[in-house]
Amino acid sequence: MIPQEFEYTAPATLQEALALIADGERKILAGGMSLIPLMKLRLASPAEVVDIGRVPGLGGIVESDGMVRIGATTTHHEVETSPIIRAKCPLLAETASHIGDVQVRNVGTMGGSVAHADPAADYPAALLALEARFRLVSATSDRVVDASDFFVDTFTTSLEPGEIVVEIQAPLEDASEGYRYEKVAHPASGFAVVGVAARIKKSGDRITLARIGVTGMGPKAFRAREAERLLESGADVATAVATVGEGEDANSDLYAAADYRRHLARIYAGRAVAAAISRAS
Ligand code: FAD
Repeated sequence: MIPQEFEYTAPATLQEALALIADGERKILAGGMSLIPLMKLRLASPAEVVDIGRVPGLGGIVESDGMVRIGATTTHHEVETSPIIRAKCPLLAETASHIGDVQVRNVGTMGGSVAHADPAADYPAALLALEARFRLVSATSDRVVDASDFFVDTFTTSLEPGEIVVEIQAPLEDASEGYRYEKVAHPASGFAVVGVAARIKKSGDRITLARIGVTGMGPKAFRAREAERLLESGADVATAVATVGEGEDANSDLYAAADYRRHLARIYAGRAVAAAISRAS
């Protein structure tokens, strides 16, 4: 399919990009891995796209003030292979390695993925488990939003018209904590039918911190807070993960019905938590 005709602009600075999108009429283009297929299917027909891929300062990975800061145009491959992320935020590197295939990981960007908010995207599970934050900038504002407030619904975030995700901020993982991302990949697309990210800290045999993010099951990724609470109260893994998805809507499609997705979320939460416990020292 061929998209409808559109104008293409490649601003050279962030200020220029922000000025171009200020009226909410133009669409940002990053890796194009999600937007271009939508345009080809004519599910999106922007009159003009603003390519932020060449804006200096929007990419790159640095560690500062107890955070790993990942520029929005950083590709999934860069997240997967970054020595900083592997050392300081390994859950994120492990999660990135599950995204699509090598072509998608070479071109798709982290900012594009979170802004797109596909309910089957991988990053949201890890970003929720990490209690990450997003820096959102417009021509007139600059704010930081928690991941749990950012993902609002299917393909819907708390981004306002004219705002760009400029940076993903992930707190450093404690070297003693265990982590794991477990995914049931759709056999055709590779997207998560269900994906679960877990982080565990222990003191002796006692779990002192449990964080569980779930993607793919419902209209948006969520934290399995009751399972986290039970694990931190000494419950066994099976009891805790039996609560995953309680009170959350689950999606149904030709591949997986809602009940099956909820069941998978519990099974894969059990696997992710057990693996994270065994990795925690
Ligand atoms: P684009 O497609 O350029 O943009 C996506 C949307 O985000 C657009 O609405 C755009 O306007 C907006 N946007 C982009 N950047 C910003 C920004 N910085 N600030 C605000 N808005 C912005 N993803 C997974 O998680 N797991 C998978 O297994 C997976 N498999 C895939 C398989 C295939 C074959 C393909 C084509 C894609 C797959 N994806 C998967 C999606 C992939 O990760 C995309 O890279 C990602 O969803 C979008 O990133 P992008 O940089 O390509 O964004």
